[in-house]
Amino acid sequence: MPHDALWWKKEKDAVRCLLCPHRCLMTENETGLCGLRQNTAGRLITHAYNRVAALHIDPIEKKPLYHFLPGTRTLSLGTHGCNLRCLHCQNAGISQTVPSGGGQLLTPHQLVDLALKNNCPSISYTYNEPVVFYELMYNTAKLAREAGLKNILVSSGFINPNPLRQLLPLLDAANIDLKCFRSETYRNLCGAELAVVKQTLKTLLKAGVWLEITTLLIPGQNDNASEINDMCRWLAQNGFTETPLHFSRFFPAHRLSHLSPTPLSMIRTALSLAHQNGLRFVYPGNVPPSFYQIN
Ligand code: SF4
Repeated sequence: MPHDALWWKKEKDAVRCLLCPHRCLMTENETGLCGLRQNTAGRLITHAYNRVAALHIDPIEKKPLYHFLPGTRTLSLGTHGCNLRCLHCQNAGISQTVPSGGGQLLTPHQLVDLALKNNCPSISYTYNEPVVFYELMYNTAKLAREAGLKNILVSSGFINPNPLRQLLPLLDAANIDLKCFRSETYRNLCGAELAVVKQTLKTLLKAGVWLEITTLLIPGQNDNASEINDMCRWLAQNGFTETPLHFSRFFPAHRLSHLSPTPLSMIRTALSLAHQNGLRFVYPGNVPPSFYQIN
């Protein structure tokens, strides 16, 4: 459902989106890189509003959030589209496609009602990248807050500072992907910038939003011990020692379907490096039960 977008400005006969660091410049009828925001008659509109492509009730631990409302269920929603191009995308069916009349039409009021009726104390903006459905997330989060529900952002953190600042007062918790710790790898792996994500993490921490971080360890991409050590040291030196860190195991997907799953030994090495650097809450993700028995 086309809806006026936030965060843009006119530039001569084009409009520039100011929502994420791509800062797409769009002439008449052009869409931005995310495929969701379009210059329509000299205004920026979003095609994601009210058009929900994925809606589930998940255990909150699936986000993953291990230290926030543990044992509860969260109403989780996503749309089509993404501002990243992750080679390993695990939701490409929705994130790397645009709405074409599909999806469920659900307003912010209806989403909040669904959460209440299903006894979910929170709503999670997740599955694809919530930044690209900012307006739906923002309006839903406002109503959710009024109804006494918590708001959870599950994101890559590739957002400009001003839109993030406007969202902060409505956020209760976030899980942010820290995809690797080398700038060039970040660009090649997903088309985002490490420096932006680091700043997002610092902003969320400073604002007092409950924060957890996830790193998917991908063989040959971001799984060398020195890079993981650098990441853990940076986290420790920047106030994240109490922030839960999840090292998730990669399984072949999307454009990296030729790779093998992450060896369990690599997950163990990462956990150990994190502990050595003083990070207090570090968890493996996507591992079999035998992982814990061997330990
Ligand atoms: S949100 Fe979409 S349109 Fe806006 S700058 Fe980012 S990729 Fe471009």
